[in-house]
Amino acid sequence: MKVFNTLTRKKEEFISIKPKEVNMYVCGPTVYNYFHIGNGRTFIVFDTVRRYLEYRGYKVNFIQNFTDIDDKMIKKANEEGITVKELGDRFIDEYYKDADALNIERATVNPRATEFIDEIVQFVKDLIDKGYAYEVDGDVYFETKKFDEYGKLSGQNLEDLQAGARINVDERKKDPMDFAIWKKQKPGEPAWESPWGMGRPGWHIECSCMAYKLLGETIDIHAGGYDLIFPHHENEIAQSECRTGKTFAKYWMHSAFLNVNNEKMSKSLNNFFTARDILAKYAPDVVRLFMLSGHYRTQLNFSEDLLESTKAGLERIYNAIGNLENLLDEIKEENLKENEKDYVKHIDEYRDKYIEKMDDDFNTADAIAVIFDMVRDINTNITIDSSKELVKYSLDLIRELGNPLGILQNSVKENLDEEMEKIIEQRQQARKEKNWALADKIRDDLKDRGIVLEDTPQGVRWKKIN
Ligand code: AMP
Ligand code: ZN
Repeated sequence: MKVFNTLTRKKEEFISIKPKEVNMYVCGPTVYNYFHIGNGRTFIVFDTVRRYLEYRGYKVNFIQNFTDIDDKMIKKANEEGITVKELGDRFIDEYYKDADALNIERATVNPRATEFIDEIVQFVKDLIDKGYAYEVDGDVYFETKKFDEYGKLSGQNLEDLQAGARINVDERKKDPMDFAIWKKQKPGEPAWESPWGMGRPGWHIECSCMAYKLLGETIDIHAGGYDLIFPHHENEIAQSECRTGKTFAKYWMHSAFLNVNNEKMSKSLNNFFTARDILAKYAPDVVRLFMLSGHYRTQLNFSEDLLESTKAGLERIYNAIGNLENLLDEIKEENLKENEKDYVKHIDEYRDKYIEKMDDDFNTADAIAVIFDMVRDINTNITIDSSKELVKYSLDLIRELGNPLGILQNSVKENLDEEMEKIIEQRQQARKEKNWALADKIRDDLKDRGIVLEDTPQGVRWKKIN
């Protein structure tokens, strides 16, 4: 299996530190608002990476943090007249609602920065003791020039960075590239006790610290959106590697942006759609299929037209799933027939192709194309004359290949059952109220969809006729 490593700028063979186990850390959201679908792309991409690793037999320890203390959190809490903690609690709840709806698997742990203050203080202390950080009047800075390899992730060297840096905005820093790992309390800000007085952690240190606490000194994969390469991940590497003297993460993965009119979707540009807005209009499978229809390292442009065509494509697959489900009900022949054995081998080749694509740096775009080809093949070759075993095998295979992408797990039949139950109830109610016009309309609408209702002694039944 190959993974593109931002650190080496190469696709590398993926070899986990422990056999069949992966420790993975993904930078999560700052919880001051609903997340937008640009953030959503990153969450879906790394959820897919995780699911695929699991599909390939790895146990994945998946950590994604919540940044619940920073300038944006403080500002928003002040605007709303609530505490930073209350704001965090609220938007963590909202995060789970949207992430669950998008079929994003729950992380092994979602640590909150404010729950690791003691550990962060210890981390900062260690960096000072080792001579990598210094305190000035309640603030603590990391001294970048003490770390020879600073810039290795983003492919820059310190001199260039220093030259490009604006005039030192903070006169107290030894170098403009030094960054805060502990921030002195300003009036009215939440703060915690520390050897340097009341203050709060910087953003970068929280991830270094929580990754270390929850996953150990060297982790397999560290991931996040492309915008985090510099300075966030560069700074995480500097802090972590100076503290432990070990490699912080073996593989660095970054997902490209979701754009709107070729600009990054972001809150500050006000060109965003929340996940919630989009989920009100499109099923989670549509959103995921859209996000995964491009390679994760390629920028993706958002538009409703693209979502509409994704929806139409997905419907073709679900129609096939619905047909297979119906066939399972109708076919009598149970066991695989002799002449079907070759067909099983034939569709197994789609699985091999899918794995080949996904093993190549999670090429979901090509893997999805394989699923479409397979579904077309199944659709033309499986009929009422097939055996139940073959139908079930095909249906299971579609679901098997959909699962790492977090799609195709719904049952058309169950959904229809639920929907029909509601419709039949509405019709019964209409009849009870002697609203014959409505009752007839419901019956006619169903007829248009190829569904007929039958009054039986056991109550109203529905049947799909083709
Ligand atoms: P934030 O809450 O802004 O810190 O972002 C949370 C995660 O979403 C980070 O990994 C970001 O890199 C990522 N992200 C933010 N905007 C976008 C975007 N337009 N496309 C893809 N990922 C994004
Ligand atoms: Zn982070």
